[in-house]
Amino acid sequence: MDFELTEEQKLLQNSVREFAESEVRPLAKEHDETGHFPRALFKKAAELGLTAVAFPESEGGAGFDHVAYTIVIEEISRCCASTGVILSVQNSLYCDPLHRFGTEEQKNKFLQPYARGEKIGCYALTEPQAGSNAAALQTKAVRKGDTYVLNGTKAWITNGGAADAAIVYANTDPAKGEKGITAIVVENGTPGFKVGKEEKKLGINATACCELVFTDCAVPVANRIGNEGEGYKVALSTLDGGRIGIAAQATGIARDAFEAALNYSQQRLAFGQPISQFQAIQFMLVDMSTEIDAARLLNRKAAWKQDTGARFSMDAAIAKLFASEMATRVTHKAMQIHGGNGYSREYPVERNYRDARITEIYEGTSEIQRLVISSRVLKS
Ligand SMILES: Cc1cc2nc3c(=O)[nH]c(=O)nc-3n(C[C@H](O)[C@H](O)[C@H](O)COP(=O)(O)OP(=O)(O)OC[C@H]3O[C@@H](n4cnc5c(N)ncnc54)[C@H](O)[C@@H]3O)c2cc1C
Repeated sequence: MDFELTEEQKLLQNSVREFAESEVRPLAKEHDETGHFPRALFKKAAELGLTAVAFPESEGGAGFDHVAYTIVIEEISRCCASTGVILSVQNSLYCDPLHRFGTEEQKNKFLQPYARGEKIGCYALTEPQAGSNAAALQTKAVRKGDTYVLNGTKAWITNGGAADAAIVYANTDPAKGEKGITAIVVENGTPGFKVGKEEKKLGINATACCELVFTDCAVPVANRIGNEGEGYKVALSTLDGGRIGIAAQATGIARDAFEAALNYSQQRLAFGQPISQFQAIQFMLVDMSTEIDAARLLNRKAAWKQDTGARFSMDAAIAKLFASEMATRVTHKAMQIHGGNGYSREYPVERNYRDARITEIYEGTSEIQRLVISSRVLKS
């Protein structure tokens, strides 16, 4: 067992950290306050290969592995959680299913320009009435000659307001329930495809998280990923990789909060000494640091397993469950260590606290991760 990063991974970590500190962090507060999608930053990240980290160069990717991918998302999220998830969606939720299930033609058209970051993608599974129970989705795709005609509404779609294309999960045979679900790429600009309302959220404000509305939207059958009825399998297997991205995002947010709290505790004086001298504060810092380490290790294990080609659903669920709940605990403590200043918008831990919370909800809530894990635990 080797916990050492390879030379290549270390070089990547250094260059992404430098990029995140110099280009991403300075804009994080503004992006949080305005909610503007960071298009210019996305382009710069693309130039570094961060829009398709663990994809072959022949498909427009940077040719790294998934462990490297966790490093990238952690470093970016440490400086801006919105930018972290925007890149995670591009890598894991949009590019990955096309890489695994797309035809050569589809890869040329719908993967390569997105992997290179010339275009932005999103993943549209959730609907207003169907989240955890995604199999209950109601968007329909009716075959008419060489097209599918889509009708329905998707909710909470990260990157949705900025995307050039969405992978839409729709039902082509509602009588079959989840076995009737099909994955179809829908390009923005297709008549009948409209970006709906943008969600006003607690955190990760710059993610163009929108409803997508389809009204008699005709899409070529050639845009179907995999076979009819295979969409649910595509959607769920995609989330396995996505959860590794979210665990890395949670780890990055927590690390930023921890570093701020450590620094603050050494500057802030109370009762004539830095508050870091109080054992109560030291113990909080120790717990934070230990949990961050544990989350990163669990996630690297999941990513390593993904790289070996083995099944990694349970490892990804464990990593996501632990890292997301850890991020909530760590950002809570970071705010506590900052006292009243932690509650102020002047200090970034307030943003960390708001941004961390979503990691327990999207790409499967903590309860859904526990369901995934319990089904395996009880079997063994
Ligand atoms: C900011 C944000 C961004 C998002 N981005 C995307 C995106 O890009 N693409 C996309 O498709 N979706 C996206 N989502 C949707 C997200 O994945 C869902 O919100 C999430 O899966 C939960 O679904 P729900 O909101 O419908 O909650 P519900 O499914 O209604 O759950 C409500 C509560 O019930 C619990 N619950 C539900 N079923 C069970 C069960 N069987 N056992 C125990 N407890 C259960 C849940 O854990 C939760 O606590 C996003 C959501 C948010 C908030």
